[in-house]
Amino acid sequence: MAHKILDTCTACGDCIDECPTGAIEEGDPIYKIDPDLCTDCAMCVEVCPTNSIVEAE
Ligand code: SF4
Ligand code: SF4
Repeated sequence: MAHKILDTCTACGDCIDECPTGAIEEGDPIYKIDPDLCTDCAMCVEVCPTNSIVEAE
């Protein structure tokens, strides 16, 4: 299990400094989460202004 970033991401960058494991990568057009590094802490979810970070199924 891991979190993932949806297409609604605006690449604002607010989430990247919140991740304690460095799982979030800059991307174009949207940011990405490395599922091998994500620990599902959900800290990034709280700061995303577009609610684009969700639990992956
Ligand atoms: S849920 Fe936690 S570990 Fe996973 S990408 Fe977000 S901040 Fe990083
Ligand atoms: S905070 Fe949300 S909108 Fe901003 S880069 Fe991260 S996932 Fe994308």
